Amino acid sequence: MKTAQLIKENIAEIDFPYKDGFIDEAGINNSLRHNQNPDASKIDEILQKSLSIETLTPDETACLINVKDPEIWEKMAQTALEVKKKVYDNRIVTFAPLYLSNHCINDCLYCGFRRSNKEVQRTTLSIEQVKKEIEVLAGEIGHKRLIVVYGEHPKTNVDYIASTIEAISQVKVKTKNGIGQIRRSNVNAAPMTVDDLKTLKKVGIGTFQVFQETYHRKTYETVHPQNTVKGNYLWRLYAMHRAMEAGCDDVGIGALFGLYDWKFEVMGLLYHSLELEEKFGVGPHTISFPRLEPAVNTPFSSDSSYMVGNDDFRKLVTVIRLAVPYTGMILTARENAKIRKDILPLGCTQTDASSKIGIGTYSQNLLQPHRKEQFTLGDTRSLDNVIRELAENGYITSFCTAGYRCGRTGDKIMDLLKCGKEGHFCKLNAVITFREWLDDFASDQTKAAGEKVIEKEILEIEKQMPGWYPKLLEAYNKTKTGQRDIYF
Ligand code: SAM
Ligand code: SF4
Repeated sequence: MKTAQLIKENIAEIDFPYKDGFIDEAGINNSLRHNQNPDASKIDEILQKSLSIETLTPDETACLINVKDPEIWEKMAQTALEVKKKVYDNRIVTFAPLYLSNHCINDCLYCGFRRSNKEVQRTTLSIEQVKKEIEVLAGEIGHKRLIVVYGEHPKTNVDYIASTIEAISQVKVKTKNGIGQIRRSNVNAAPMTVDDLKTLKKVGIGTFQVFQETYHRKTYETVHPQNTVKGNYLWRLYAMHRAMEAGCDDVGIGALFGLYDWKFEVMGLLYHSLELEEKFGVGPHTISFPRLEPAVNTPFSSDSSYMVGNDDFRKLVTVIRLAVPYTGMILTARENAKIRKDILPLGCTQTDASSKIGIGTYSQNLLQPHRKEQFTLGDTRSLDNVIRELAENGYITSFCTAGYRCGRTGDKIMDLLKCGKEGHFCKLNAVITFREWLDDFASDQTKAAGEKVIEKEILEIEKQMPGWYPKLLEAYNKTKTGQRDIYF
């Protein structure tokens, strides 16, 4: 089928009840303009609100964005970490990206997969090939969670997405001391209809992720050509409303930083969070803040005039943490190791490792993987290395996937997070799943660093949660003898 016809058919499907956006551009610009030079006592008040895990207002967020004094920024960074600790303690969740296809009918100026890019070799993996990828990810590296990524194309329609998610969950691989398996597949794909989303809900996806890329409508319409499906700003803006309507209540939003002014995008993410909270009683499960990276034969990806430097990147991550205190925050391997080490303590909760973003590159050793990649990765260190560094810095890596399997999703998890109760389950599950990983996959050096963290966690559980301590020990000892997938 010719691309033009594919696009026409897809655009014809776009019919939905929402006609007005909820991004009030004039309101955002006014907030940014009228909240210049906030005084220190005003900032203190705002930081107290973040610490009580309440979402900030647009004016409060604009005040933080406009801070000039480096000392106040330092205080904000420390508060961001405190907020993260209050909700998520010292846990970091790790995952791997899994790209299954680079066929795409869209033509986003910044993306290596755009349809006009003739330098990219197009591939869509078969179910058998998908399973081979999982054998490496779950059997050799030890991942339990994925973000599965798809272009937008009839070859990767909802039936393909559903059958690949099912295939992923079926692969079980014998490991050193147990069984390796992917237990949660989050999905990053194009916006869908409510019916399609219901299909994904049925096969049991984790978080449904769609990034708005830019909340600034004029920029959006420039970087997403109008004769493409993705050119429709509102169809994308309401992707998460449809997900909620379909019962997919764990949603991940994001902006691609580098397309427009970062200050505006942070306000856009806040407006999106407030809108979801107001309409559905549940905000985003995660916020992502990828920065534009160079992509093969894609000049725009290196010359945008809104590229975000490292200082501004620190600022925007800090403000997102403070503005939406309950949300998970994902720092990806687009960033290099040094930057990741610097940015993580600003309140990030999830990160990927051992990442490969070519199609089929976990199981095949391709000579020119970049010919199938969307952009270039900044950090290709192994999961073992990343976990060791985290452990040496006092973090416990959690492979917990219990939340959605116990029905702790959407508004249920939001309420638990806000009052700190979800943290109890998470602390127990982090210890059990980290034990599994150390016994199945860790190098000797990483194991040594990990043991110290586990020991400290177990002591804390004994002190802080005496009622749960005996149950933890029972599950822990069973895990040590090779039982797998015990969770609270
Ligand atoms: N095709 C789907 C879509 O566009 O929503 C989902 C997959 S797309 C491969 C995932 C995300 O990658 C996009 O939403 C975009 O934010 C990000 N991305 C695209 N090009 C990028 C680049 N050059 N550098 C960094 N991130 C990029
Ligand atoms: Fe396709 Fe997504 Fe890349 Fe746009 S960002 S070209 S929709 S894969």
